[in-house]
Amino acid sequence: MSEVAAKDPREILRAVFGYEAFRGAQEDIIRRVIAGEDALALMPTGAGKSLCYQIPAIARAGTGVIISPLIALMQDQVDALKQNGVRAERLNSALSPEEAHAIERRYAAGELDLLYVAPERLHSPGFLEFLARGRIALFAIDEAHCVSEWGHDFRPEYRRLNVLHERFPDVPRIALTATADSVTLKDVIERLQLQNAARFITSFDRPNIRYRVALKDEERVQLLEFLRSEHPGQAGIVYCMSRKRCDDIADFLERNGAPALAYHAGLDAETRAARQRRFVREEGIVMVATVAFGMGIDKPDVRFVVHLDLPKNLESYYQETGRAGRDGEPSNAYLLYSLADVVNLQRLMNASSDDEQRQRIIARRLDAMLGYAESTECRRKLILNYFGEERADRCDNCDNCLEPPETYDGKIAAQKALSCVYRTGQIFGAKHLIDVLLGRDNERVRKAGHDRLPTFGVGQDLTEKEWKSVFRQLAASGLLSVGLEERSGFRLTEKSFPVLKGEVGVRLRKDPYSKPRSSGRSRGPIDDALENETELRLFETLRALRLRLAKERGIAPYMIFSDRTLRDMVRLAPRTRQEMQLVNGVGQNKLDAYGDLFIQEIRTFQR
Ligand code: ADP
Ligand code: ZN
Repeated sequence: MSEVAAKDPREILRAVFGYEAFRGAQEDIIRRVIAGEDALALMPTGAGKSLCYQIPAIARAGTGVIISPLIALMQDQVDALKQNGVRAERLNSALSPEEAHAIERRYAAGELDLLYVAPERLHSPGFLEFLARGRIALFAIDEAHCVSEWGHDFRPEYRRLNVLHERFPDVPRIALTATADSVTLKDVIERLQLQNAARFITSFDRPNIRYRVALKDEERVQLLEFLRSEHPGQAGIVYCMSRKRCDDIADFLERNGAPALAYHAGLDAETRAARQRRFVREEGIVMVATVAFGMGIDKPDVRFVVHLDLPKNLESYYQETGRAGRDGEPSNAYLLYSLADVVNLQRLMNASSDDEQRQRIIARRLDAMLGYAESTECRRKLILNYFGEERADRCDNCDNCLEPPETYDGKIAAQKALSCVYRTGQIFGAKHLIDVLLGRDNERVRKAGHDRLPTFGVGQDLTEKEWKSVFRQLAASGLLSVGLEERSGFRLTEKSFPVLKGEVGVRLRKDPYSKPRSSGRSRGPIDDALENETELRLFETLRALRLRLAKERGIAPYMIFSDRTLRDMVRLAPRTRQEMQLVNGVGQNKLDAYGDLFIQEIRTFQR
């Protein structure tokens, strides 16, 4: 450490990082690693895993060696650490031989607190000998699920990471990941020989993210409305299924004054890297992306994640929405979907594989996703239960908790719909079926002779929109299924007959409005949004200063101060260095580097 010669973890937390208190299991993990023990941390995104190895690396003699799979992410971490005065560097293929050599020299001379290393580097000839020339404080294996073939980001180079342990058995190790089911976890433990490591597995809840689902009506208008009313000038991700849709939607947003970029596998690597960089380093960019935009977004202030298409399963959905609000600030996860989405996904699933067991797993996962979208219960509870966590009944931070949806007895409506499907021969889609139910005497209906059916016109008690909602819910709950072909229609399932015969009831939900429902900015349970106009203006002023400084230094704004830190600064309005030091997120180094500039800005503002 440069200035502060602190060895106590709390002192490091305060002086280097400017934080008041540890979160959750952080302190426990940190103390164990400092004491030379191994640890395994399975914690959700945003829980603060990085500090769990950064603080021990600073506290222990020598250099902490961090294995991290993503080059872009490594650079960001190093830049952010340097802002806090920590002596961090990285070794990866992006460096010139001269640069790498200089870093290696500093390592051997004991001048580094942390050294980030790409996994392939470890296996290059002579690397272990090089490591042996310095003093190693600890090994941290970030994104440890990459070890496992069962995990979704398998990295062959991770397979052989146990060479570290074999070569340096006395160096403590800490493995960290946010995504690992029990199979993956077991694999990680075996592969890395972490059987004796203390395990820290924390709740996967992300209480600062508000989960909401709405029906797609006019998706572009809905999206724009959402951005304008809830997230003006803020950064977020809009996920779409196809490349073309990403391009179109990004284009649409741009034309309507929301800075947006498309991101998908159809773009060359350079364009993708440049766009990701802009997303991280500028403020308020909306990334319209396919799932190709994923791992390696280490941006803490992503304020919202919108899904314009239904994801295939809850696993992906939860991971994608988890990219919002890593900084713990209130954030939104907003899913828009429609009957067409349900139909498309089911079709995709039917076509996906002929391996029966695989198909069953895919079907089960899709059911869970549809169940989530249609649920009238607490969304968070549903998600966490799905991942095996028990939860209290309400979270008070999802749409269903905040505005409980109305349900109604849908038995008769379901019977009418199912019988219409049956009598028209199980080959038609919702549009025609609804025409028949509403008694619309159009050419298609007449040609098919459906104006003579007993179900013709029996559905006039509901509107077209309401019928659409009925068909969607029937499809989502497996009371109707769709065929494989593009134009094939709804079919009855085994589950349909008991309903037709009146043996089981059906409860349906009244659809929520299509517009985002909460007005103004969303407020979460730990929301400490700014109180008044003056505070908001000061916040914007400080934000502008932050952006200017970040540009001058070629780093991301959040590396200077996080949004939370700025907000704290607005509330305390420090006018002296001593007061500035009380702001959450202002450590010694940042106080020296930026304190006066921000104090000056606050004073000018208050004049
Ligand atoms: P993870 O790697 O688990 O996704 P990070 O390590 O990126 O999470 O931390 C998320 C954010 O929370 C970062 O901005 C980090 O500085 C902040 N943070 C971590 N620990 C604390 C703490 N004890 N107090 C305040 N902020 C913290
Ligand atoms: Zn809830």
